Amino acid sequence: MKTQVGIIGAGPAGLLVARILQLNGIEAVVLERRTRQYVLDRVRAGVLESGTVETLRTYGMGARLDREGIPMRSMQLCWDRQKADVSLDDGTGRHLTTYGQQKIVEDLITQRERDGLPIIFEAAVDRLEDIEGETPRIHYTHEGEQKVIECQFIAGCDGYHGVSRRHIPGSDEHVFLTEYPFAWLGILAQAAPLAARRGFAHSTRGLAVASARSATVGRLYLQVEPDADPNAMSDQEIWDELDLRLDDGTDARLNRGPIIERSVARLRGYVCEKMRHGRLAIAGDAAHIVPPSGGKGLNLAVGDARIMAEAIRRLLKSNDTGLLDTYSEMCLRRIWPTVHWACSMCEAFHIFPGQTSFDTRMQYQMLNHWGNTEIGQQRLRKAQLGLPYEI
Ligand code: FAD
Repeated sequence: MKTQVGIIGAGPAGLLVARILQLNGIEAVVLERRTRQYVLDRVRAGVLESGTVETLRTYGMGARLDREGIPMRSMQLCWDRQKADVSLDDGTGRHLTTYGQQKIVEDLITQRERDGLPIIFEAAVDRLEDIEGETPRIHYTHEGEQKVIECQFIAGCDGYHGVSRRHIPGSDEHVFLTEYPFAWLGILAQAAPLAARRGFAHSTRGLAVASARSATVGRLYLQVEPDADPNAMSDQEIWDELDLRLDDGTDARLNRGPIIERSVARLRGYVCEKMRHGRLAIAGDAAHIVPPSGGKGLNLAVGDARIMAEAIRRLLKSNDTGLLDTYSEMCLRRIWPTVHWACSMCEAFHIFPGQTSFDTRMQYQMLNHWGNTEIGQQRLRKAQLGLPYEI
């Protein structure tokens, strides 16, 4: 098979690159190793920066988002049985929006299918060939057969465990990694989220987070051991633990309901600074992982996808490699400050093995700074609303 751009991965990064290319008259094939249903059901991120929302609107993906997205205009921090509700209003009208990642993925997939454009599910990419030439090839397995796509550019949007990154020569020498000694148990529950019980909580029992996916569905997290079994706690134990950790000294308690999804994700910070070689570039989780404490992974993936699609457009339409040559540097100008913020949140809210009461007091100081001082609130607001795009 031949196409202009071979895109590996039907996550938000790959699907958005495909959409932007389509609107610029560039052909692409998306290869995804999972089934269609698996991709549609995968529950992950849910907090969108206004830049992400604007990007999705610009490329015709805003209709359901505008109907169902829930504006989030403040952020609650809770620690030591007290709470700060920090306004996210920076005078520009920007705010965050709650809209599940799987809805974005569904919107992009159904639009692509409606437009009659190819996404090949259950197509696992094994290796890439000739990325330094003008017609790189993608080798993949589909329906038990080995197949090849010949293209003019490869977009590696295949997440942290994908194959693209390792095809960038010497990429290991450009990797920066930190592994945190804990994980998040994430649950999706049919329980109306409570305005008085949301946001991030520091507790000596470990972090807890309460957020909304809709008016009737809550997304909540507990800090757990890195290798925790997601099914180890009963529903009641999870709700009891959440209420204990989210205690802000008031009588408010979470609304409880059936837990419909659970997963455990390890926390790490990871950046591969070499994001392009020849006619291969990587975007999103293929290039970087941020701890979910900042709500930034999806937003960063969208930022990379915008730059990647424009760089490919300039290459294929005008034979201009200028943006491609600076692709890594431009992406990294948004990636590193965002990773820094997500890691700062991570370090302020979690209990670390061997943590002393002194360490906990230091965390309280940080949280008091973000929650109760003008300069700290400005920092939090700016970081949560997200960095501007250069392109
Ligand atoms: P992905 O969404 O990972 O998509 C990559 C795709 O490539 C996948 O569909 C995968 O199946 C496919 N693929 C991989 N290898 C191959 C191959 N060899 N061949 C073909 N296809 C392949 N971020 C937040 O901002 N807030 C959150 O609350 C949050 N929660 C999260 C919870 C969990 C459990 C996880 C895992 C992540 C979470 N994230 C969160 C991060 C966020 O979901 C990611 O940053 C986002 O999905 C990145 O999008 P992506 O398109 O780069 O990668």
